[in-house]
Amino acid sequence: MTEPLGLYVHIPFCASICNYCNFNRGLFDADLKRRYVGALVEEIRRSDGSPADTIFFGGGTPSLLDPSDVEALIAACRESFSVSADAEVTLEANPDSVTVDRLAGYRQAGVTRVSFGVQSFRDAELLRLGRTHDARGAAEALGMARTAGFDNVSLDLMMWLPGQSPDEWLESVERLIALRPDHASVYMLELYPNAPLREEMARARWTQAPDDDVAHMYLSAMERLERAGLDQYEISNVARPGCTSRHNLKYWSDGEWVGFGCGAHSTRGGARWKNVASTAEYVDLVGRGSPAAIDVRVMSRQEQLEDALFMGLRRSGGVDLPSVGSRYDIDVWSYYGPQLAPYLDEGLLIYDGGALRLSRPGMLLAHEVMMVFISPDVR
Ligand code: SF4
Repeated sequence: MTEPLGLYVHIPFCASICNYCNFNRGLFDADLKRRYVGALVEEIRRSDGSPADTIFFGGGTPSLLDPSDVEALIAACRESFSVSADAEVTLEANPDSVTVDRLAGYRQAGVTRVSFGVQSFRDAELLRLGRTHDARGAAEALGMARTAGFDNVSLDLMMWLPGQSPDEWLESVERLIALRPDHASVYMLELYPNAPLREEMARARWTQAPDDDVAHMYLSAMERLERAGLDQYEISNVARPGCTSRHNLKYWSDGEWVGFGCGAHSTRGGARWKNVASTAEYVDLVGRGSPAAIDVRVMSRQEQLEDALFMGLRRSGGVDLPSVGSRYDIDVWSYYGPQLAPYLDEGLLIYDGGALRLSRPGMLLAHEVMMVFISPDVR
């Protein structure tokens, strides 16, 4: 039986643009937001009633939506899919765009989980990133979410920030732990080629920590988070027992999901597609009754297998080779074993005949190891 779908809803609006951000987003415009929400409802309503058990509002800044917008979108999902009663419904939020009332409104609308983009608990670092909240505001936002009744709250942190020392990074980790979130994501800052932050770094002579320090920063953070009861379940994600992100696990477990909104990606039934990236074009296409997808690709069985292995290795528990093998009718170990052997010898990979997984040092070199699974013609 096919597993229930994950539903992703993209909200491309932000109150201001951070200087490192390469996501599909633009400045908030109330009229465009109103038309966009209408188009989203319309696109969702074209669906076929399949079972789904997660909804994820990602962005952008979904917390710029009014609770009534979120309610309308969740209602459209429930009308157009068979959404389970205990579905996980996540909303990404910026700490400075919420109040207790607003968060209570989201909860009333059906949101079960809030994920705050905190990034750092040091004000100097937040300023460098062009973030509009401060560390105190981030702590207050988590308190507001608790007051509004949320028992599943996630905080995102970013490491390898310009001018950030290992001690400064670990200070943010400690402050996150002290707030007792249920889930946390720890990402490395990735600077795209023309990011305005690059220019500011050159002007101010900020540098990023050298590789050895980055390894120490990552490994120490994971150890510290684990000691605090936040177990690592994916390269960048930790959670208290029972609080893993069911939606994101679909990406790492060979699951299927449908994305709505501009630039949203979908993977379903052996095909992958992407919606048009521009917000205005998306509203226009949907308004004319046209599909929003511009790039539909049927994946070969080999590509699906590669994806299942590549993404599955991100999970701390790794990939269960016998079950992937039976799904794709292949002896995975015989096929990839010779290329994987050097990584096992170096202690970067662990294989016990069942699950193949990365050791924690292996997680630092995950991309290199995972490339074993990608056919040479697409490398
Ligand atoms: S709030 Fe998030 S999506 Fe918006 S500009 Fe900043 S990093 Fe990008």
